[in-house]
Amino acid sequence: MNNGHYDIIIIGTGAGGGTLANVLAPSGKKILVLERGTFLPKEKANWDSQEVYGKDRYRTKEIWYDKDGNPVNPFTHYFVGGNTKFYGSALYRFRDRDFKEVVHKDGISPEWALKYRDFEPYYTKAEKLYEVHGKRGLDPTEPPFSEEYPYPPISHEPYIEKIYYALKDKGLHPSYQPLGIKLNEIHRVLSSCVRCNTCDGFPCLVDAKADADVNGVRPVMTYPNLTLMTEAKVLRLHTSASGREVTGVEAEVAGEHQIFSGDIVVVACGAINSAVLLLKSASEKHPNGLANGSDQVGRNYMRHKISAIVALGIKPNPTVYPKTLAVNDFYWGEPDFPYPMGHVQTLGNITEDRAAANSPSFVPSALIPRGVFKAVADRTTPWFLMAEDLPDPNNRVRVEGEKIFLEYTNNNDEALDRLVNRWKQILRSLDPLSIFFTTEMSLKDVGHQCGTCRFGEDPATSVLDLNCRTHEVDNLYVVDGAFFPSSAALNPTLTIMANAIRVGEHLLERMGQTAYLQNSKVNCLSSRVG
Ligand SMILES: Cc1cc2nc3c(=O)[nH]c(=O)nc-3n(C[C@H](O)[C@H](O)[C@H](O)COP(=O)(O)OP(=O)(O)OC[C@H]3O[C@@H](n4cnc5c(N)ncnc54)[C@H](O)[C@@H]3O)c2cc1C
Ligand code: SF4
Repeated sequence: MNNGHYDIIIIGTGAGGGTLANVLAPSGKKILVLERGTFLPKEKANWDSQEVYGKDRYRTKEIWYDKDGNPVNPFTHYFVGGNTKFYGSALYRFRDRDFKEVVHKDGISPEWALKYRDFEPYYTKAEKLYEVHGKRGLDPTEPPFSEEYPYPPISHEPYIEKIYYALKDKGLHPSYQPLGIKLNEIHRVLSSCVRCNTCDGFPCLVDAKADADVNGVRPVMTYPNLTLMTEAKVLRLHTSASGREVTGVEAEVAGEHQIFSGDIVVVACGAINSAVLLLKSASEKHPNGLANGSDQVGRNYMRHKISAIVALGIKPNPTVYPKTLAVNDFYWGEPDFPYPMGHVQTLGNITEDRAAANSPSFVPSALIPRGVFKAVADRTTPWFLMAEDLPDPNNRVRVEGEKIFLEYTNNNDEALDRLVNRWKQILRSLDPLSIFFTTEMSLKDVGHQCGTCRFGEDPATSVLDLNCRTHEVDNLYVVDGAFFPSSAALNPTLTIMANAIRVGEHLLERMGQTAYLQNSKVNCLSSRVG
């Protein structure tokens, strides 16, 4: 039974789907948005690190499998807004050169068929929609821009500011992280953000983080032409006899199977789940999975090479919100290593519960008094180091029946190792007594997932065309991190949002909405204050 026909169906409400819904809703087209999760409950536990990290209150319980068949509980979340509910909202533009072919020590990062200049106007729109606070002109790797950031940068607290000047004294070029938090430092009384210590990795209890729920979905969810169904997990896409159009979207809505149809269907489930949905939608015309004649769906999975360095010093670090500083001096390498190394930024605060939850396995955290973790947490400065993950067709998402496999082998290790060693050397020169705890992200850490349905001009080597429409199915699009041909070494989400706006404008044109487009503005929820 068909439960309704729509002009467009969007599956997923994260950075890709939530942004797209925001762009398309004012057109008046009949839109159905299907989201497997609920709205994230607004409750005190949002800011309780014991609940969020100690008990994994919001993380999926799903089990996937690695290449050897070992179970993995992925660090991912299913709510309206997707993983942006938990993100640190560092909203970076990729660098100009990231869109070109780049030679790394361990291989090639491929050229994108569209270049930075094609994305620039959409980056500008995305920065407005997601209220990015930043300052241009400090980071030598920064790409050209047509407009200033819409909001001033989030200030460094004194301890971080001291590091900022010490790095400058060393000839480095520290800069402000561009952040989507709604902090008004001039008129604090008008600020929705209270600058707390539970932001990166936590949902925001006061809705002051510019995420895809608050800034993408909510401003348009009451439009009469838009229907948002939560707890609606899409299971499979059905096609016409020719296999050229999607004719049915089969979903489990609050436990019941329903089928919807749409002139256009957009998959925006996150790079891994979008590939899973296409692979699970195999049929006679698409025996290897929907739109997978190229055998590229699920391949070239990337997730960044990431190390967290926690620097433990003697003196207390009273910073509440440390995630303001970044350094790109080693992004493209250094004199004796002419290959890209990557990006350095401060991470969100390490609370005592997070310190306990992340303590090494040999530490019996339950037996250690909480005061010890507090004393440690109060003396830490957390750093997040990111190197590029190179696309490899053998790093892939695969399905066997209902089982999801994430098969991944590390690459580009030397770039990250060099960056980690260089950064520790620099930190040691600032504080010779500090000691470091370094953690490398593991397979379960899928926060920066991308690249499983890359876009390109050649249907033999890509899944999507340049509008993110599948080469093989006329009315099927994928609009999330899956389209990336390479991962760059910067936080991915602003690029996902910018691309969603770009594809949204293409879809409006396809649906004959050019008049709307001429007057179009993205739907910013709040007006600028301060
Ligand atoms: C702790 C953490 C911190 C992060 N910090 C940053 C940061 O500072 N900067 C940055 O750029 N990035 C950050 N990220 C990454 C960022 O969250 C992702 O890049 C971004 O959310 C990806 O957007 P997406 O649309 O591709 O997928 P998602 O945001 O994951 O959205 C996918 C949506 O699809 C839904 N869905 C999935 N399958 C189905 C289905 N079958 N049917 C219906 N709905 C479905 C999901 O519930 C979800 O709502 C962080 C991530 C994490 C986890
Ligand atoms: S720092 Fe601001 S945006 Fe982040 S969780 Fe706290 S109040 Fe929300």
